[in-house]
Amino acid sequence: MATILFPSPIFGPVKSRRLGVSLGLNLLPSDGKICNFDCVYCECGLNAEHRPKQDMPTRRQVALALEAKLKAMLEAGDTIDAITFAGNGEPTSHPDFKEIVDDVMAIRDRYFPNATVCLLTNATNILKPSVRRAVESIDRACLKLDSVDIDYVRFVNRPTCVYRLDELLEAMRSIGKKCVIQTMFLKGTWEGQCVDNTGEVAVQAWLEAIRTINPNGVDLYTISRDTPAKTLQKAGAEELDRIADRVRALGISAHAYY
Ligand code: SF4
Repeated sequence: MATILFPSPIFGPVKSRRLGVSLGLNLLPSDGKICNFDCVYCECGLNAEHRPKQDMPTRRQVALALEAKLKAMLEAGDTIDAITFAGNGEPTSHPDFKEIVDDVMAIRDRYFPNATVCLLTNATNILKPSVRRAVESIDRACLKLDSVDIDYVRFVNRPTCVYRLDELLEAMRSIGKKCVIQTMFLKGTWEGQCVDNTGEVAVQAWLEAIRTINPNGVDLYTISRDTPAKTLQKAGAEELDRIADRVRALGISAHAYY
């Protein structure tokens, strides 16, 4: 099972399909993964196979490392499009997430004021007031919503936390235009059972949720790297384009990546 673990607290910059040249911020340990989901498509691998022994970086370590990296890049004449909270799991798991976001926005303003600060999150922690405030302050917060079918979420995203879909959708609706919804479309099988969120019933229910959330945009994507489950398949480009068109018909911008 080929999976990727990222250095911590800084990695890259990497060329991202969605975000351009992006400097990664990994608030999780470098030797393992911490996430309250355990997605069967996670490029970091399954949780049980990557339990970390190291601690998360501290707020001070993150700020010092980011400042040193951006200063060096500026002096070298390098440019970046984005600074992105991503890495080995769920960034909002860090106990000082809100304070780290404040630090990162201020450091960004000093060195690369035109860079977009982004967050890739599974969204579960937006029910916590401090995380929600942090999410709302970020330039481009991408919230995962792969399906509104709770059985699909339990089978594919495999939350290890208490997962309350109705409350989460309500919180997403209240954030609305301040967020982007990101959805992984998949086909294939996992443990002998069908995995497919591209069918009409699933897409129609998901579109209705998107309509009521009314986000700033929707990113539709499919697998592009090795996944722990080898029996998963990419969703087709034409399918993604068709679903993106249906999002646009709601008056919401959409981009498909395949
Ligand atoms: S939410 Fe992201 S980091 Fe967590 S298991 Fe899923 S893909 Fe991996």
